[in-house]
Amino acid sequence: MTEAFSLPDRDRHARHRLVAGWDTLALAGTRVIVAGAGALGNEVLKGLALVGVGRILVLDRDRIEASNLVRSVLFRPHDLGRPKAEVAAERLRDLVPGIAIDGVTGDVATDLGVATVRAAHVVVGCLDSVGARLSLNRLCLRAGIPYLDGGLSAEACQISRYGDGSEGACYACGMTPSMQRRLQASRSCAGLLRETSGTPVPTTAVTAALAGAQLVDQVLALRLPTWSPMAPGTRRTQSLHPPVLIEDVLPTREDCPEHGCLPDMEQGPAPETLRPVDLLARSDVQRLLLPFEVAIGLECRACGTASAVLEPLARLSRRAAACPDCHQERWVTTVEALDHASPFLDRTLAQWGLVQGQVVGLEAPCEDSSSREPRWIACGASWFMEDAHHG
Ligand SMILES: [Zn+2]
Ligand SMILES: [Zn+2]
Repeated sequence: MTEAFSLPDRDRHARHRLVAGWDTLALAGTRVIVAGAGALGNEVLKGLALVGVGRILVLDRDRIEASNLVRSVLFRPHDLGRPKAEVAAERLRDLVPGIAIDGVTGDVATDLGVATVRAAHVVVGCLDSVGARLSLNRLCLRAGIPYLDGGLSAEACQISRYGDGSEGACYACGMTPSMQRRLQASRSCAGLLRETSGTPVPTTAVTAALAGAQLVDQVLALRLPTWSPMAPGTRRTQSLHPPVLIEDVLPTREDCPEHGCLPDMEQGPAPETLRPVDLLARSDVQRLLLPFEVAIGLECRACGTASAVLEPLARLSRRAAACPDCHQERWVTTVEALDHASPFLDRTLAQWGLVQGQVVGLEAPCEDSSSREPRWIACGASWFMEDAHHG
């Protein structure tokens, strides 16, 4: 650490320390995952960095487009075409020297593991689709970590704190028929993501800032002992024209299929070195449960041809799934659990599409009733653990 950094830093939080209940050290040790680095993600990241949150992981799958520049404080015209997460991380390091931030270009469904989420204190969703929110909701439930979420329109914004079902509704508890339809519309019959997402929602830097500030305020409230966060399962909707603020409690669905936290997990080797064939060779393992659906075969029923593939379903584009001869969408075969009869068992879990911090389940043979619950193995260190190693 250079003198140039440490000298002004001594006074950096002088005004913060005047705030009742402020704890600079607690915030410096706070680990937050921000999913989405669009207009809202920019505001959340800026706020978290300024209040002194010390460790941030930001994930976004997209690159910067011209329309992002009028709503995203961290992006510049010369950033066009660069990955959003990478640029956002770079700008925060510039804004707050010494901050530990990593930008990951990837998808919530396939590039964020339960073990990484469990190592965070809070997850903030700055997403723009029902599918991505459902994926993030599932990760937070399995990890048992609070999920804050924000959404924007041109004149209003909404922030929510989702619960685990036992205390407060989760995101899936509040799924409406129109959200189900939007989810269906974003996928083809084979479950592939459509290349073009729906109509873009009109938003401005104004509502992004409004929602972003409130999400950062909720992170503070969750981490500062004398502050009071929103109760799990609460949603706050704010409209500017006319000015209205409504807070409501979402009803918990008793039959919600998403609830349930994973028990303690074992620390396993990195996905680059772990192979299903080795795990299934253990006498007490019958099946290996993957964290997501993986495509293993493509079949064109028009041409009668079939070919093998190994790609998480969420990463398989319609273009890649099209038949090279007749260009029709091919039928996709997927697996979510592996046994001795599965293909590609000698490929590593990284080749199966897993990233560090993802969790696989090991199921015992049926006759062994003593261990019905799968054993859960974290593949490699979570991002935050690795970060701790780096100092
Ligand atoms: Zn639920
Ligand atoms: Zn064909």
